[in-house]
Amino acid sequence: MNSADITTIKSILSQPQKIVIVPHKNPDGDAMGSCLALYGFLKGMGHTAHVIAPNDYPKFLKWMPCNEMVINYEWETQRAQRLLDESSLIFTLDFNDLSRVGQMESALREAKADFIMIDHHQQPSDYAKVTYSDVSMSSTCEMVYNFIDFLGGAEQVTKEIATNLYTGIMTDTGSFKYRSTSSRTHRVVAELIDRGAENMEIHRQVFDTNSPSRLHLLGVALSNMVILPEYRTAYITLTQNELDAHDFKKGDTEGFVNYGLTLDDIVFALIFIENREEGIIKISLRSVGDFSVNEFARKHFQGGGHDNAAGGKSDLSMEETIDQFNTILKTYKSRLNP
Ligand code: 5GP
Ligand code: MN
Repeated sequence: MNSADITTIKSILSQPQKIVIVPHKNPDGDAMGSCLALYGFLKGMGHTAHVIAPNDYPKFLKWMPCNEMVINYEWETQRAQRLLDESSLIFTLDFNDLSRVGQMESALREAKADFIMIDHHQQPSDYAKVTYSDVSMSSTCEMVYNFIDFLGGAEQVTKEIATNLYTGIMTDTGSFKYRSTSSRTHRVVAELIDRGAENMEIHRQVFDTNSPSRLHLLGVALSNMVILPEYRTAYITLTQNELDAHDFKKGDTEGFVNYGLTLDDIVFALIFIENREEGIIKISLRSVGDFSVNEFARKHFQGGGHDNAAGGKSDLSMEETIDQFNTILKTYKSRLNP
């Protein structure tokens, strides 16, 4: 964020604002952490603030401080709509294109408020009065910490804000191991611990609260894994029937895709998950090294994200999607074996 942006934001926030904060659809730890942290900070400054999530999110995030304040657009559309109509300022966090909020897209497009985007994905769209976009950042939560710091608010970071920011940085960096984890990330995290974030407890709440059925579903996912050594690729499929047989709950498949990358000499991992209700196959893509899954997802599967972590979808059946994927993969053989 440049100094002109900081001046603009300071000037806007010097008056009481009616603020709505929005994460992307199917919000993850970074999306919810950044929204709830910013919510806490802006409330502390005396603004009216609400977090409106486009839809529900997993149980392993529902312990987060201020979680009970979140409005679900799908469940409380009228109330959410009224808050958007009345708002003077809308923050969009952890996404950079209005298509990423699903059903809520038209409500945001019609809103009269000024927008502020804080995000670390590639290729931001141009809808915000202030765009704070930095693809080198580990997480939107690290950026929200910077944002608070730019405004001179580091001393106002409470235990609740620190806990929310820590959660998002931890989840988006794969517990501080992805390439985007910098020394600065660790300095921010250290500061958050000093401000009250209980790192061990946060880790337990997010990663060690599994249900038996989720672990059994992981077993199915791992036995469905197809390994293609000649393409240094591994992919997992999960059909709706397999999900149904394991009492699937939102978030249960989180992290499954990463198991492919734990194989020696595998650099590209995917998971294809059938969603009968939406009539799509949701795809998560991960890579290590220089193979850009953002480009792959953008080009072939209506998606995008980061170089090493992206998402997309297919409108075909599972079988057709896998056939199509195998055909596409053939054209990437040399890029996967540089
Ligand atoms: P995940 O696979 O965990 O759902 O998402 C991985 C990354 O890709 C996240 O940063 C997420 O925001 C992004 N992503 C997931 N699905 C989509 C999608 O359909 N479109 C775009 N542009 N990004 C996505
Ligand atoms: Mn993120």
